[in-house]
Formats: sequence, structure tokens, C-alpha cells
Amino acid sequence: MSMQRLEAVRQAMKKENLPAILVTYGENRAYLCGFTGSSGTVLITPEQAYLVVGFIYQEQASMQAPGWNIISQRESPAATVGDLLGSLGIKEVGFEANHCTHAQLEGFQKAFSEANLEITLTPYRSIIETLRQVKDADEIALIAKAAEIADHAYLHILGVIRAGISEKDVAIELEYTLKKMGADTFAFDTIVVSGKRSSMPHGKPTTKIIQVGDFVTMDYGARYGGYCSDITRTVVVGKPSDEQRRVYQTVLTAHLRSYNAAAPGISGVELDAVARNTINDAGYGKYFGHSLGHGIGRVVHEGPSASQRSEAEFVAGNVVTIEPGIYIPNWGGVRIEDTVLITEEGRRSLNHTTKELIVL
Ligand code: ZN
Ligand code: ZN
Repeated sequence: MSMQRLEAVRQAMKKENLPAILVTYGENRAYLCGFTGSSGTVLITPEQAYLVVGFIYQEQASMQAPGWNIISQRESPAATVGDLLGSLGIKEVGFEANHCTHAQLEGFQKAFSEANLEITLTPYRSIIETLRQVKDADEIALIAKAAEIADHAYLHILGVIRAGISEKDVAIELEYTLKKMGADTFAFDTIVVSGKRSSMPHGKPTTKIIQVGDFVTMDYGARYGGYCSDITRTVVVGKPSDEQRRVYQTVLTAHLRSYNAAAPGISGVELDAVARNTINDAGYGKYFGHSLGHGIGRVVHEGPSASQRSEAEFVAGNVVTIEPGIYIPNWGGVRIEDTVLITEEGRRSLNHTTKELIVL
């Protein structure tokens, strides 16, 4: 599995005329070689694939990255990388422009010059991120599992939410359930907002007590085997008002229409527009101020996105969220979000809990 990814990276390196690249960003490193430690440097050449790690990760690296040359770093990873490049006679190496810090870059420059090596460090941008946008079967299975865990937590929380408990109580119970159901950790900080606070798309749970008549919006996700899920559901406590029903129904229609439009070939702008037009037509356009969705995988927000600016064209294997919302200041809000796989035939939601309005 990791060897196919390596081959794809090498093809991209060829296109960019890079004889070697360094990978220092943890998620990209883990994606390529399987090693999940918190530090380590990957060096890829057309023939070789090295993983340079310190003493503490020797054993873990050999277990997690079979087939890779595990190199024990000497005084610094940069000096070790210099040794390798010097012995291979390589004169140019790419570094991750989006992740490598200035200090790391200086470290490589210093180590190379101390070893009298004339090696050019060339920035490269999204070779690995681009590959990561198309998930293989192993990755899809992990995201599906992360989504299933989130679904379980939703079913559980429906039996917990009632007037008189706080947003924090709901968040704690959600997170406990995610872990109990097998999540390694959370995909991001759990959002629980209720009543008027539900107009804040990314509000933090507080000690505010849930009241009869409140919308309660929960946005959370599990991380499982290195992959994230992301789900949002809004429920209402007590009988919903006509306005609450209207807003909820508008968001649900926007969700379902854009879900049904999601397929290979549609662009991020076009998909976003399906939901945005639905909400505009219902008169709530100015209350939908964020993008329709984002790619999701090892990181909760990655490419490709469905937004008013996204030229990305979806392909089978993309996993993207669909999450329209309406947020009316000082009144409340609704968001409905699923994690959705783009397939050859169209799309398949990885979340399976109902999106109909639940009245508690
Ligand atoms: Zn979310
Ligand atoms: Zn999301």
C-alpha cells in the first residue's frame, strides 16, 4: 500500500524535476510510510526511501514502515540527511514549503554547509496533499469507521439531551462515547451550542443550560486509525416554532440537493452553488456565510473543498463534507453535516443517522 503511494510521489517528483524530496510534516510522513511517531524525516529519491528517526523511534519505525530504510539519526536529522544525500551524490532536494519551518530550513542549510555539501534546497508545495485527496480502499474503510463511531455517539446523545443540562454536559458525554466506541481521539474540539448561541457556527460548549425551545447543534468527529470523520446534527428541545421548522427544512433541503448533486466532474463552486441557491431562494442567503464543505482525511480540513472559490473538480475517491447552515444572530442556527465519499456512480454518505428534525 505504502509502496503505491511512494511510486505516485516519484512520478510527481519527476514532473517537478526534483531528484529527491524531504518530508517532515507528520501527516504526510505517516501517509507515505505508515510511521506515526511525532518526529522523523523522510527522504525519497528515485531509487531509495529513507526514514530517519532518533533512538526513541527505532523499534516503532521498523515495525510500522516495513520496506523502508530506517536510518538512525546522528547528532541531528539534518546532518544525517546531508550524509545520505552526499553519499548518493544528489545536489538538489525539495522541502515542504507549506510545512517546513524557517528554523528547520536553516538547520538543513547549516548541516549541508558544515559537511561541505553543495545541495540546493527547493520548495515544493502540494505533491503529497494532492495525492491524499484521492483515498484508497484502506483509507475509505478507516474514515467509514470514524463516521460510524460518530453515528453511534449521536444515537446515544439523543437519550441524554434534555432541558436542564449544560452544553458542556452534552460535549463531555459525546466525547466519552466517541472514545468508548473506539475512537483513538477526536477529529477536532467538539462544538455544542444551544438556543441563541446556536447562531455561532463554531461556538465552544459552555455551562449554559439547555432550555425548552432551544436548538442544540453538535459538530464533532472521531479520529480512527489516523483518519477523521466530521458530523453535525441540530435537534430541538420541546416543540419547535414555525420559524424553527422553516429554517431546519431549508437547511435539510439544501443538504439533500447538494448531496444528490455530488459526483465526479462537478466542481467545488458548482456544488456549493446548489446549496447556496436553495438557501438564497428561501430568503436566508445572508445567513449562510461559510463554505458548503471541505475535504477530509488524515486532517479534518484538507482538499478538495466545496466553496465559492474552489475550482477543484471532484473525482471518485474524494471524501468531502456537505454542511450547509443558517445562522441568525440573536435567534439561533441550524447546520446539517455528513462526511460523504465521491464514488464512480455518484456519492455515498459515510454517516447513516437520520437528518430529519429530532424533537426531544
Ligand atoms: Zn463539522
Ligand atoms: Zn466540517
